[in-house]
Amino acid sequence: MKAEILCVGTELLLGDIVNTNAVYLAKELAKLGINVYHQAVVGDNPERLKANLKEALSRCDLVITTGGLGPTCDDLTKETAAEVLGLPMEENAEELHHIKEYFQKINRTMTDNNRKQALIPKGAVILKNGFGTAPGILAENNGKFLALLPGPPREMRPMFDNELAPILKKYTGKTLVSRTIHIFNVGESAVESKLKDLMNSLENPTLAPYAKDGEVLLRVTAAAESTEKGYEMIEPVIEKVRETIGNEYIYGIDVGNLQTALVKALHSKNLKIATAESITGGLVSKRITEVSGSSEVFECGVCSYSNNIKHSVLGVSQETLDTFTEYSAETALEMAKGVRRISGADIGISTTGIAGPNGGTDEKPVGLVYVAVYSDNYSDVKKLLLSRGFSEERELIRYLASSHALYLGLTATKKL
Ligand code: ATP
Repeated sequence: MKAEILCVGTELLLGDIVNTNAVYLAKELAKLGINVYHQAVVGDNPERLKANLKEALSRCDLVITTGGLGPTCDDLTKETAAEVLGLPMEENAEELHHIKEYFQKINRTMTDNNRKQALIPKGAVILKNGFGTAPGILAENNGKFLALLPGPPREMRPMFDNELAPILKKYTGKTLVSRTIHIFNVGESAVESKLKDLMNSLENPTLAPYAKDGEVLLRVTAAAESTEKGYEMIEPVIEKVRETIGNEYIYGIDVGNLQTALVKALHSKNLKIATAESITGGLVSKRITEVSGSSEVFECGVCSYSNNIKHSVLGVSQETLDTFTEYSAETALEMAKGVRRISGADIGISTTGIAGPNGGTDEKPVGLVYVAVYSDNYSDVKKLLLSRGFSEERELIRYLASSHALYLGLTATKKL
């Protein structure tokens, strides 16, 4: 079933309100296995609404509108839809009763324009509004469905869930299942070019990449008769992605993010971690402690911004700082080693580098970052050049540095 979402409201066009109805409906329709092919927004203008409705009905099996069902004169969705479908409007006695009751309940006088809300296109199904007065409508015409839902999300959502979705389910009998593959340390374009053939050859499940905060997420989605069947269909695609991208770049499936994956891995191995941060100023600790349950695996974080603290607290040798500077692999490794020693954790991770915009030189430019990990059996240090050449990229450099440190911690955890 192909669907289109058409949201009505000049406020939406002006950017005064965010179109959360479209987001909600798109997600819920996907769960039902209904493919949303188009989304549109149209103002409170009957001519443009008519044109949009006609176009939407010509190319889709189901059109869902939100908004414009209220009692005021600019609420014209129902009348316009009836005109497009060629259906006369009829007063529905039951609906009128419902509206009268509603006004009694809230102790307000019902005005004449509220009566308008009881007018229904002939033969249409009424979708009950448990949270307001405007009923929704489901009309069928030449095998196509047109559903009209109210604008306020607190009315629209329950109406979709309780009234419309049960009807739609009967037609689709499908459910959508997705899994997300989390990739780190490979750029989006590299991932796309490696997977281009696979992505093009797949129809169900489908494979879609999303770049997010320096990471790439691959979403595999299957439409199936059941959730179980959907997972079965997805499994071979995940295997194919592992083969094509390289398993070492995949840090988890459905793991949420790097810090969640790290905390989960530490838990499963019964290990503890500690952080020594310079350039990230506590961001790595913050991200780890965002995860619930981190208190059992996170020992401490030292924000060792100055060389003095790197030396006096973490034990980085003065010679290392004098010879290689604080922006060096040697310092990073000694920081990780030091925080592990003072905390008694199994793993120490560290960050040091130049976030800019000032402080860079030809030899040590802005974006030069070292991240290190130190543990009994596995230690490593990575030199990174994280500048993308943008102005005001200090926060991005710091965030990416924290991601690399978390990733290194995760790699160490898996190896221990
Ligand atoms: P009412 O009976 O309240 O008039 P209605 O069906 O006529 O309902 P609108 O008048 O179009 O709906 O919108 C009412 C309010 O609902 C808007 O002011 C806005 O706050 C919210 N709203 C409308 N459309 C959307 C949307 N697409 N996404 C999020 N909120 C919306």
